[in-house]
Amino acid sequence: MKEACGVFGVFAPGFDISHLVFDGLFALQHRGQESAGMAVSDGETVTVVKDMGLVTSVFDARTLLSLAGNLALGHVRYATTGPSTWQNAQPVFRSVGNAGFALAHNGNLTNVEELADAAGMLPGIVASDSELVGELVARAFPLVDHVGDGVDPDLEQALLAVLPQLEGAFALGLVDATHLVGVRDPNGFRPLCLGRLDPRPDAPDGGWVIASETPALDIVGAHLVREIEPGEMVVVDAGGPRSFRPFPEARVEQKLCIFEFVYFARPDSRLLGREVHAARRRMGERLALEAPVDADLVIGVPDSGVPAAEGFAARSGIPFGQGLVKNRYIGRTFIAPTHEARVDAVRRKLNPLRESVEGRRLVVVDDSIVRGTTTRQIVRMLREAGAAEVHLRVSSPPFRWPCFYGIATPDRGDLLAANQSIDEITRHLAADSVGYLSLEGLVASIGEPGEGFCSACATGIYPTPVPAPYLRRLGELAAARP
Ligand code: SF4
Repeated sequence: MKEACGVFGVFAPGFDISHLVFDGLFALQHRGQESAGMAVSDGETVTVVKDMGLVTSVFDARTLLSLAGNLALGHVRYATTGPSTWQNAQPVFRSVGNAGFALAHNGNLTNVEELADAAGMLPGIVASDSELVGELVARAFPLVDHVGDGVDPDLEQALLAVLPQLEGAFALGLVDATHLVGVRDPNGFRPLCLGRLDPRPDAPDGGWVIASETPALDIVGAHLVREIEPGEMVVVDAGGPRSFRPFPEARVEQKLCIFEFVYFARPDSRLLGREVHAARRRMGERLALEAPVDADLVIGVPDSGVPAAEGFAARSGIPFGQGLVKNRYIGRTFIAPTHEARVDAVRRKLNPLRESVEGRRLVVVDDSIVRGTTTRQIVRMLREAGAAEVHLRVSSPPFRWPCFYGIATPDRGDLLAANQSIDEITRHLAADSVGYLSLEGLVASIGEPGEGFCSACATGIYPTPVPAPYLRRLGELAAARP
């Protein structure tokens, strides 16, 4: 699975804030490592700096000093639609008359073709769904002006006109010269929260922050005010935040991506008022009840498999230990685009601790299995290091369906659990046994009602209409089958 993206924005009157946005993006780096960017307003002009690479390679002290302004928006990207190129790095900028706005998007729209058709756009005029939203909002400025009700054309009004047309997953941040805006789609697939910077000597009025995850608030010294609600648009300006509900009430129903709890979010994030690390630990405890095994040592696949491994060990009574060491200076393995490169990337990233695993019957806890490439490689490494048995335990349900909501998953044909039984998966991975956490177990571990989550990649039940290109692809796959 490829990551979602990260969005971070600050409005702090009288205070240059580019270094705060740098820190916020740095805290969200796990959500996207392909490109980073920042749009800063000095009250009149919006300036965008973006480039390919990590936050620390895109911004240095000199660049940050040159970005003067007290209103800014940042983005870290993992390409889920559109290629990973400089052109597609965000924030996206659009000029409107003498002014302009910038947009940062986390998620995937599911009705891109329909929107582009309806707007009369030729194929290729926009390179990604985020560009498309920017283009639609830019076009909506004059439309709003023609309503004739005396409303000035502005970002707020353009968004109110465009947002109801969008379907799918979109946690958006926007800035123009004087406003910071945060939007969550009606299902709230991706997280977005509102924070407050307390007044301090160099920023006597304090300020407001929007962020994909709460640790980005912590790092800049802001406190969580609340999560932006599904279907809500929050506009922050000199008067403080105002809340709007641009979507029809019938469309608003929370469906937070359940994999934010399993995998995507940082362990120190708080989602729905709950700490992610504690939920992951409970997933492991529950897994020990649902898929017990006789073994000598429980190890976790770093990093997100470790809390669940601790939980498994605590509940099963099997000792917990470290069996795999992670090289901290390498990105996540699925950055590698091809199968061969992925295999090499696993070797570069993980190495077994021979004395810990030799002769032992291991329980190896991981958060998910997608293609199985990484997992198969881990099992082989542990066996080569002398493990007597390798029992895989997965702290999420089998991943059987692709995601359309901002996570780049392989074609259904490449999803291991979509095509094989547990016995076949066990043989394919060369493990001694494989056990998954049930969806019910996952929901119970989080402690929130299951209806509040999207779990479509496990169930195939999508909260929004399935996009037309995928329906066509499913037809092709079915026709190709013998
Ligand atoms: S399909 Fe899966 S990965 Fe995608 S939003 Fe839903 S739960 Fe998350």
